[in-house]
Amino acid sequence: MKVKISDKILQSVEKPSRYTGNEWNSVYKDLDNVSIRFAFCFPDVYEIGMSHLGMRILYHVLNERKDTFCERVFAPWVDMEQKMRESNIPLFTLETHSSVNSFDFIGFTLQYEMSYTNVINMLDLSGIPVLKSERTKEHPFVCAGGPCAYNAEPLADFIDFFMLGEGEEVINEVMDAYVNWKGSGESKESFLEMIANIEGIYVPGFYNVEYNDDGTIRAISPKADRYPEKIKKRIIKDLDKVSFPDKIIVPFTDIVHDRIMLELFRGCIRGCRFCQAGYIYRPVRERTSGKLLELAEKLQESTGYEEISLVSLSTSDYSHLRDLCTGLMDKMEPKKVNLSLPSLRVDSFSMELMEKAQKVRKSGLTFAPEAGSQRLRDVINKGVTEEDLLNSAAIAFAGGWSTVKLYFMIGLPTETMEDIDGIAELSKKVVDVYMKTPKDKRGKGLSVNVSTSSFVPKPFTPFQWEAQDSIETLKEKQQYLMEKLKGKYIKYSWHDPYISFLEAVLARGDRRLGKVLYAAFKKGCKFDSWGEHFKFDSWIEAFDQCGIDPHFYANRKRTFDEIFPWDHIDVGVTKKFLKRENEKAYFEVITPNCRVKCTGCGALVFDGGICNELH
Ligand code: SF4
Repeated sequence: MKVKISDKILQSVEKPSRYTGNEWNSVYKDLDNVSIRFAFCFPDVYEIGMSHLGMRILYHVLNERKDTFCERVFAPWVDMEQKMRESNIPLFTLETHSSVNSFDFIGFTLQYEMSYTNVINMLDLSGIPVLKSERTKEHPFVCAGGPCAYNAEPLADFIDFFMLGEGEEVINEVMDAYVNWKGSGESKESFLEMIANIEGIYVPGFYNVEYNDDGTIRAISPKADRYPEKIKKRIIKDLDKVSFPDKIIVPFTDIVHDRIMLELFRGCIRGCRFCQAGYIYRPVRERTSGKLLELAEKLQESTGYEEISLVSLSTSDYSHLRDLCTGLMDKMEPKKVNLSLPSLRVDSFSMELMEKAQKVRKSGLTFAPEAGSQRLRDVINKGVTEEDLLNSAAIAFAGGWSTVKLYFMIGLPTETMEDIDGIAELSKKVVDVYMKTPKDKRGKGLSVNVSTSSFVPKPFTPFQWEAQDSIETLKEKQQYLMEKLKGKYIKYSWHDPYISFLEAVLARGDRRLGKVLYAAFKKGCKFDSWGEHFKFDSWIEAFDQCGIDPHFYANRKRTFDEIFPWDHIDVGVTKKFLKRENEKAYFEVITPNCRVKCTGCGALVFDGGICNELH
């Protein structure tokens, strides 16, 4: 069904271009010639979704198939949703403005726990029953992937199947299975049976969860022997061989990352103990610089973008960074294309590079020491010292930079008020470094922006057993820092601790949270990560109504033998390794990165990337 959006509606909402489509390089296909229609849904607004590389890659991979047409769908902003509901307009795709309920698949990418109510709201807006138990063969299959899919138990009531890990190959295997199933006349269940044994596919309906009297999990087990006991994530072994879009959509409107995004590698050699990405994406696999240069040229030609950014978890760990950057500058400088280098380590090479790359505008520099004291940085295995940071700041100030962002986390395991003091002291030392820089060298108008987020214990990290600080404690720490950081050059900002609390609940949640999510959605919760829409009181009402204590999930320290809702998911990194890392944290012992020494995390089973180089 094609949906008609009147000009009157478009004129009455903020940023109509979020809904019109037709951008440069978007894909159009003849509907008579495709047999699978896939609605790729990003549960946030257009500007955020379009900045996401994973969505761009999978859009391209699906549309490379002759038999499949993948279209994009974003969450309508609240003003548009209101108009849609008033005029009975269902959720629609950007390419053909078709109602998503007529598609074969609705696929969500789960980047952030706080988007879960948007997932439910989008299903509701599309006019299909949000609970999978109420959907029939007339309705599309609803699937999801992305980092939150590694513990997507809170969404188990709503999603038919999850894809774990990197999607490029597994999504094709699912589409192939669908082609066979579609003409067969078999039930929906039989399709799920067909894909349940594809590596990386998790069908939550095929697993039972039993609980102990104290609310912890007793067992998670497959309902039949034919389903895998452990669901193993997928990785792409050779990134040079896998398809990467050489034409990307160029939006008409400003988006968060409006530039070419060049993905250098996946995974991370470091093992910061709070960082989920550092474990779930292991092992590190790099693209060759030759391949990246080729891609950059093609993308620049097909988009006309004037900026390329290098994206990966810690860009400066790319082993051919110098070659790549020199090659890119040679090719791109004559075309006046800027290179943006986020999260680089500041040493003399990178400063030289940044000066060349940012001739016109010096953007702010970002450092993430994460903790205020060396002791706590050792606890979290953050391999930077105060000396590193201050040296980098000195080089940057001498190079004319004068805006610095410092990221810290509060509420980390073992944290004391001395560590919090350390945040203020380190920030002030950065100001001192600027003051010591000769006036003729440094830029004008120093601004040190200090921000703190609150520690959220995440699955598959060495801190998955830890308790989160209570909201009150987090607020006290923020208040304390606010007093300490008063000064002419320093600005302090912090994350909403109420949002961090809910994130902690959902991140380590189990299936019982499905009813809370549903109740919260019914109370109008959506866009929970957007401060202005976050309704904490409604969430608390939803927990009360369902008889569920959120503190059980956020603020409880787990014992090592507790069974987690994600224990049947296999990311390669073993629980044994994570336990060992947890213990080392308490002894303040650091673990070297993968290039220095392999510490046997378990990711070797994937037989790819850095693990093979070392063994
Ligand atoms: S197996 Fe070794 S090299 Fe591979 S990711 Fe784990 S620690 Fe790093």
